[in-house]
Amino acid sequence: RNSAEKFQFQAEVSRLMDILINSLYSNKDIFLRELISNASDALDKIRFLSLTDKEILGEGDDTKLEIQIKLDKEKKILSIRDRGIGMTKEDLIKNLGTIAKSGTSAFVEKVQTSGDLNLIGQFGVGFYSVYLVADYVEVVSKHNDDKQYVWESKADGAFAVSEDTWNEPIGRGTEIRLHLREEAGEYLEESKLKELVKKYSEFINFPIHLWASKEVDVEVPADEDDSSEEEESSESSSSEEDEDAEKGGDEDAEEKPKTKKVKETTYEWELLNDVKAIWLRSPKEVTDEEYSKFYHSLSKDFSDDKPLAWSHFTAEGDVEFKAVLFVPPKAPQDLYESYYNAKKSNLKLYVRRVFISDEFDELLPKYLNFLLGLVDSDTLPLNVSREMLQQHSSLKTIKKKLIRKALDMIRRIAEEDPDEFNDKDKKEVEKSSDDDEKKGQYTKFWNEFGKSIKLGIIEDATNRNRLAKLLRFETTKSDGKLTSLDQYISRMKSGQKDIFYITGTSKDQLEKSPFLEQLKKKNFEVIFFTDPVDEYLMQYLMDYEDKKFQNVSKEGLKLGKDSKDKEIKESYKELTKWWKGALSSDNVDDVKVSSRLADTPCVVVTSKYGWSANMERIMQSQTL
Ligand code: ADP
Ligand code: MG
Repeated sequence: RNSAEKFQFQAEVSRLMDILINSLYSNKDIFLRELISNASDALDKIRFLSLTDKEILGEGDDTKLEIQIKLDKEKKILSIRDRGIGMTKEDLIKNLGTIAKSGTSAFVEKVQTSGDLNLIGQFGVGFYSVYLVADYVEVVSKHNDDKQYVWESKADGAFAVSEDTWNEPIGRGTEIRLHLREEAGEYLEESKLKELVKKYSEFINFPIHLWASKEVDVEVPADEDDSSEEEESSESSSSEEDEDAEKGGDEDAEEKPKTKKVKETTYEWELLNDVKAIWLRSPKEVTDEEYSKFYHSLSKDFSDDKPLAWSHFTAEGDVEFKAVLFVPPKAPQDLYESYYNAKKSNLKLYVRRVFISDEFDELLPKYLNFLLGLVDSDTLPLNVSREMLQQHSSLKTIKKKLIRKALDMIRRIAEEDPDEFNDKDKKEVEKSSDDDEKKGQYTKFWNEFGKSIKLGIIEDATNRNRLAKLLRFETTKSDGKLTSLDQYISRMKSGQKDIFYITGTSKDQLEKSPFLEQLKKKNFEVIFFTDPVDEYLMQYLMDYEDKKFQNVSKEGLKLGKDSKDKEIKESYKELTKWWKGALSSDNVDDVKVSSRLADTPCVVVTSKYGWSANMERIMQSQTL
């Protein structure tokens, strides 16, 4: 077209499109859920804007917030349209030509080697999955602020954008037309599309309609004589299927009726999804599989891993809301890399079924950013700006309850894990059938998100004790396995007052430490803390269940009284004095006779309130 403006795709996009169009990837189905997800996002946007400005929805069909799918078998076109916010010319160029999200090039690289597209939706490039099935794509779009435009590309490194002067006006929204490749013919089958919507787009909160064919019986005038019957009936059946004509002729021949029935194909919009939101249903009625699928749709991660846990609940009282929270099966790669500058939580906020935002940081503390889910509040006002919502007093209450529920949910992973030490172990518990499935789940959780629990202990004084219960670590007695504070306490020797720990870079290094000699000899258990964050953690975690924490490399270690202590101290008085003089006060604070060693003759201990040697090392290398 002459009026078209041509653009080059950003190099990264171009590369991704090349991969997609030449892809032998077996699950090409995913393009449909990506398009439907985009349509749903666009509808969320216009609905949100309409809360404060009713006019924005326009009138007539434009007010229907829905998604429509249509097939043109002859031209081999599959089109998906929404009445969402639409795109201006500028939007089309920017959104469908460049990549906004960071980390996408790493993703493209990974796709190239692994061929795994399950995460495409997470990386802000889901749209391009259309090239798995189409070789030519047109995007017709109309935004309130602009004229109707067409974006088109044959995935040859370039795309064109033109003002739309040849199509019918589509009204507000976007219509995506996929010119399907020869081998993608299955996507012209209604049954296939129904199956896909059911499978991948179950949780879309807008109606999805398919322009579906339907066989209906219609009455037509009976024939004058039998000879002309065949002709007439095939004429009246407007469908492409010829067999209709034969069926029409099977009528009884006894009496000649004035009319007869024939099959005819008509089209109508068929609703494919149940728009009732899963979180509005009673938790008893929702199956595990449904929760799993809901998790995948929220996370846009369609790999096979199931979420580690979920919690679905209704809060009542002053502040009413419903919520579903998930613990993902894996931590995203950058979870801790960007911890201190990341501000995005993964919770979606709805107010009375209307999606408000997924960039709302007031709902969860930072350390719980790894959770996924949504909150639907009945108490928050609908028709105010996001900024005003952010100030609303109910948010504090919601946050408090969410934290409590989240920690309960995490505790339950441990409680239900047969590999974990639990109070219930002491009682006789019946083995449940899903024991196998829950086995080792907490270790999995700990390996992925343990750091978040530690950061929580540092940041959240109110829930410190609850979080401490969730801590896991290795000890001198844990035999290479993870253990908990409760378990440690249950094994404490009679007369042992403090919880002993030691910090360092690795368990191997710590095991050889002279600080452990006497403790080991006397059969005390010592916790190994080997993560840099542990040093900070222990500055906040002072005690647990009335027991103090004692760093065994620090001053103040008491292993119980020995009657000879005083005697020994006396007899070495002169030597101690000499040592102190020899080392001078620039180097050491004090020199003491110690009972903490067994074989090593002497050791340098740090003062009770100063940094441990390990902390000094961390501060020097600035690893955190
Ligand atoms: P993502 O949805 O993660 O942002 P996509 O590649 O799926 O990434 O889409 C890119 C962008 O294109 C979207 O962010 C959106 O701005 C725009 N877009 C795609 N489809 C539509 C649509 N149906 N209506 C409006 N905008 C759309
Ligand atoms: Mg998308």
